[in-house]
Amino acid sequence: MPDAKLKSRPIQALIDLSKLEHNLTVVRRYAPNARIMAVIKANAYGHGLLHTAQALKKADGFAISELNAAIRLRNAGFHHPILLLEGFFSTAELAQLKRYHLTAVVHHRAQIEMLSASEHKGLDVFIKLNTGMNRLGFSPKEFSSAIQSLKAIAAINQLSLMTHFADADDPNGQEKVNKQLQCFNTITAGLNQPRSLANSAAIIRYPHTHHEWVRPGIMLYGASPLTDKTADELGLKPVMTLSSKLIATQNIKAGDRVGYGGLFQAIRPMRIGIVACGYADGYPRHAPTGTPVLVNGQRTRTIGRISMDMLAVDLSHIDNSEMDSPVVLWGKGQPVDEIAQLADTVSYELLCALAPRVTKKYSGT
Ligand SMILES: *Cc1c(COP(=O)(O)O)cnc(C)c1O
Repeated sequence: MPDAKLKSRPIQALIDLSKLEHNLTVVRRYAPNARIMAVIKANAYGHGLLHTAQALKKADGFAISELNAAIRLRNAGFHHPILLLEGFFSTAELAQLKRYHLTAVVHHRAQIEMLSASEHKGLDVFIKLNTGMNRLGFSPKEFSSAIQSLKAIAAINQLSLMTHFADADDPNGQEKVNKQLQCFNTITAGLNQPRSLANSAAIIRYPHTHHEWVRPGIMLYGASPLTDKTADELGLKPVMTLSSKLIATQNIKAGDRVGYGGLFQAIRPMRIGIVACGYADGYPRHAPTGTPVLVNGQRTRTIGRISMDMLAVDLSHIDNSEMDSPVVLWGKGQPVDEIAQLADTVSYELLCALAPRVTKKYSGT
């Protein structure tokens, strides 16, 4: 027995870095002629910025939203192009872009004005066209004047073109994607700057959108970007496995209820397990009874409401389950996409929302 004093709350996120490398090669297989800008915003979708960047160092660039994270990458010795997906927010940040050689998305007039007034030369930018998502970007009407202004600014070095699809994940989204693509092609016709359009879903579904730079995010982490295909079917392997252990078992009688609100009621005597994992770890509170979970490598289900620190599982059909039996909440053997779908969300949210209190353990380097 290990020293009881050294034992602690058993939840962990195991991050297998070799799977990041594997998924990057899958991206290359789907988009053999494009450069790959690995999207590592939000702490690399919850996987840890620097470990992830290191495992993805064969990518051709990184895309990220947070300036401080971009600076951390530079300070850690990464020389890749680094694209700031929301650009910059103040003139003061332009000095940082220059100093750390960071590329910014330019999506708004206010940014062009800051660039015009800047004394910093040699900045690389991606100008963003709003082709229908209506989140960031110049409208088709504004675009030509925006690009003329940028070309006239001495501060600008390399200019690239980008847009973002709203419906690439949807199996019935083809018409909408093509409408955005046509808008992009029309507005950028005659320009010969590098182009970047495709996120993970478009990388897989729409090869004609690849162009010079693709921007994969979720597929690098081994979850499916498509609503009609599993990660496994796409050749992707999960990077993060959220694991814990049984910290208690209970034998309950017919009619006994489990957890807050007693949402689950046993219809026959049964054995249940309590897992050290709850919504304060990032497990979704809205996961209903029946959400799959592995105990001792065998598939069972959650029962009752998810608590802050714990959840309950059905042990009726699990062999040799006892205190300390291993539990996998998602990851290897239990796709995070299944949990996300049952909890009415997407894998992205579950991965990003992994709580800081969960220790990450890295392997596979
Ligand atoms: C997050 C993001 C991506 C990556 O999207 P995935 O669906 O994770 O592949 C690509 N482009 C932009 C602009 C993004 O914000």
